[in-house]
Formats: sequence, C-alpha cells, structure tokens
Amino acid sequence: MSISTDFYDIFDIDGSGFLFNIYTSSLIKLDAQAKAKLLECKESNNLNVFSQSEYEILQKELFIVDESDERSRRLAIKNSCHTSKYKNSSVIKIDIALTNKCNFICPYCYEKKILNKNLATGDGCNEYIQKLKRYTLHSISSTTKTLEVVFYGGEPLLEKEFMTQINDAFVDISNSTGVEYKSVLITNGSLLDYNIINILKSHLDYIQITVDGMKETRNSRRTTSFKEDTFTKIIGNIKFLLANDIDVSIRINVDKSNAGSALDLLDFLHDSLGDGRYNSGTGKYNVDIARTSGFTASFSLNEYVPVYAKLAEKAFQRHQIDLTLSAPPLAAFCTAETQNANIVLDNFGNIYKCWDRVYEEHDICNTLDNILNGHPANLRSLDYIENVSLDAVNNGKCMECKYINHCGGFCPKIRMNIKDGETDNIYKDDMCKKYIYSMLKEKIKIYLKNADVL
Ligand code: SF4
Ligand code: SF4
Repeated sequence: MSISTDFYDIFDIDGSGFLFNIYTSSLIKLDAQAKAKLLECKESNNLNVFSQSEYEILQKELFIVDESDERSRRLAIKNSCHTSKYKNSSVIKIDIALTNKCNFICPYCYEKKILNKNLATGDGCNEYIQKLKRYTLHSISSTTKTLEVVFYGGEPLLEKEFMTQINDAFVDISNSTGVEYKSVLITNGSLLDYNIINILKSHLDYIQITVDGMKETRNSRRTTSFKEDTFTKIIGNIKFLLANDIDVSIRINVDKSNAGSALDLLDFLHDSLGDGRYNSGTGKYNVDIARTSGFTASFSLNEYVPVYAKLAEKAFQRHQIDLTLSAPPLAAFCTAETQNANIVLDNFGNIYKCWDRVYEEHDICNTLDNILNGHPANLRSLDYIENVSLDAVNNGKCMECKYINHCGGFCPKIRMNIKDGETDNIYKDDMCKKYIYSMLKEKIKIYLKNADVL
C-alpha cells in the first residue's frame, strides 16, 4: 500500500488545510498535525506516521491504495480515451456550419477571416440534404442511440429554410431508425422568431446565445455594422425562449475588456430571469463562462484564475453554473480528436475536424462525396487527429498527469497552436498544472463558503 501524490492535493484555504482526492473528489479538513503527517509521508512514503483511525479513513477515501490499483487506474484512463477516439460510440455528433455569413461584426470572432466572403449556400440544397441523409444512415450502427446535431455558422438563422430542411431530414431518420435525434442551436440570438422555434422545438436540446456583458459593453462587442442595440433585443428573445419552455445556455466570453461587465450581467440575469437551472431544476437557463484566447485583450491563464473565480462564485450562488468537483472519465475532447462518425460539416459538404477551422481550404479533411463514394479513410483527417492526440503532444506527459481527468489536456486547437508555436507553451514550467491546481482550489473555496465551512 502507498499514498501517492498522484492521488491528492493539499489546499491551504483561509488558514485551514484541505486534503482533496483528485480521482474521487473526497475532501477532508486537516488539522495542523494531520497536515504535517501527510507532508512527512509525502517525503518518506512511511505510512506508519498515521494512527490506526487516520489510516482507515485515508484508505476508505482511497488516498492510500495498492500500487497495482494505481497502475490499473492509469491504464483505465488511457483505455477510456482511446476507446472514445477510435470506436463507434452510442452518440453520433454532426456539427453543421449552415453558412459563413453573419449579421454581426464581433471583433473577437474566430471566423472573422472567412465571414461574409459571399459563399452562398447555392441551389444544391436538396442534393446536399440527400447526401447528408445517406451519410447519417451509413454511419448509424447497432450501437447508435443518439444523433446530436449542432447548427451553427456564421449566423445559422440567416439560413432558416436550409436549417428547417435539414432538421426535417434528421426527424425522418430518427423516425425510420428509432435513433433519438437532439439538436442544439448556436446563434447570436438576434434573428429568432416563433416559426423557427416551433419547427425545431420538439427535438431541440437547448439554444446557446452569447451575451458577454451589460448593454454598453455587449453592444460594443457584439453588434451589427449599424451599431444597433442588440443587447435589449437579445434579452427580450431569451425571455421569449424561456417562456416557450426552451432551455438557454448564455455564453459569456471573458477578456480584459468585459470582465467587470460580465459580473454585473450575472446579477442582471438573475434579476430578470430568476435562478438558473441548477436550483432543483426550477430555472431553464445556465451560463457558460469561457476565456477568449489569442486576442490582445485575452487574459493569460494565470490572469484568468481570479477573474473566473469571482464570476464562478457569483454564478454558483445564483444557480447559473454547476461547479462539480468530480471529473468525468477521460474521453476525446471533441470531434477534432475522434476517428469515428463525428464530423464538422460546412454548407458545401466539406468535412473538418475542428469548428475553428471551417471554411479554411487547407483544413478540409474530407468531403461527404468521398465518404459516400467509398473512400472514408482520409489521411489528412487521421494526420490531424494523431497530431493533436494526447499521446503526441507534450511528449505524451498529459496521459501521465494527475490532472488529466480535470483538464482533458486542453482543447486540441490549443495543443496544435502550441505545437506550431502560435501560442504560449502552457506546458512549459508546468504552467498548465499550476492553472488546473489554482482552478480546483478556487472551486473548492466556493463550495466550502457555500457550505458555511469557511
Ligand atoms: S479543437 Fe477546440 S476549437 Fe476545435 S472544435 Fe475542438 S474544442 Fe472546439
Ligand atoms: S495539466 Fe498540463 S500536463 Fe496535465 S493534463 Fe493538463 S495540459 Fe496535460
């Protein structure tokens, strides 16, 4: 038996020590003596420092484990990651960029380079939908239970008719195969109307709308070229969706230019929409707080920790986010890492691995035509997947890292950018580990405060 530092962290929070099990999420408050014993054991791996009762608690909460259990855990993590990468899963994910056009001109948009280049959907809608149907039916296997489709863009609501036709096709597939069909709509929220909601409603999981901040901030970041008051309109549309029983995920992209306003927004949303969904299921909305990256106003990882902590604490108190301390089993981060039926598709039938690379010609990994003509394996796609793989990046160290389940190895696009030298190397000097440690500490602090332990 041993106590491995790979299983736990000790956090000093407001003068007290807390022992946290990274794999089981057990949390134990330590007195000074217990903390000293743990630190001593960390140096010497001498389990005799613990009394019988201490030993039993540490064993029961899986801080003390058999060495072979530790090896099994590591293998299970790798296995779970590789399985989700290469094997058919019960869910097929198809993310469809319906258009590269947008009615907004957001300065930080990652699609800025390719938007509004007048690449119209064209007259081939029917042909496209037939191909998409054939691809989907071809991909459904005996293990498929759910078809998850994300409509995004550009602004997908600029293509309501096209979206309706694709939605109908998936409803047909669901009816004929018995596979559940669920959709998600990612929109700037300005073009919503009752008709389109009514069409999508029966299979719609939720709608994601980005708000970013209060009126002035939001309107300066996310607006049309006419500088309209999109904030008022979008809040009105969110209320309309909630009144129609549609779940809404309100995205807040945070950087140095809106962090303060984002905090005010959480209060505003609570005052206007009530509690979020994490209060016994009463609310219908949640917020999704994310760091922008690669822009002049973006926070570095270190800068972001206290900013996120403030936002998360407030959102947690208002039931707008779920701050779970437990980590899910390691799985492929997104479609970019999988070699199964999951695809990102544009409105021309081109297939990509990453949302962030749609409409970039050199990032086309395959086409619907290729697959339907019997050439499914595409070396470019495989090359991309293996290049961003956790086995390849960071010299494979992520797979051995104790934080892997909490971190997931960061988004594959970030991994690729690090490889290409286009972004800060977060692996250097364990910057990524320090970031995950600090984030965990902040989350635990919020929990403890809310549980009146601090
Ligand atoms: S690689 Fe990152 S940006 Fe690209 S689809 Fe995956 S999560 Fe999104
Ligand atoms: S903390 Fe760093 S080393 Fe650990 S899994 Fe995340 S990216 Fe990889």
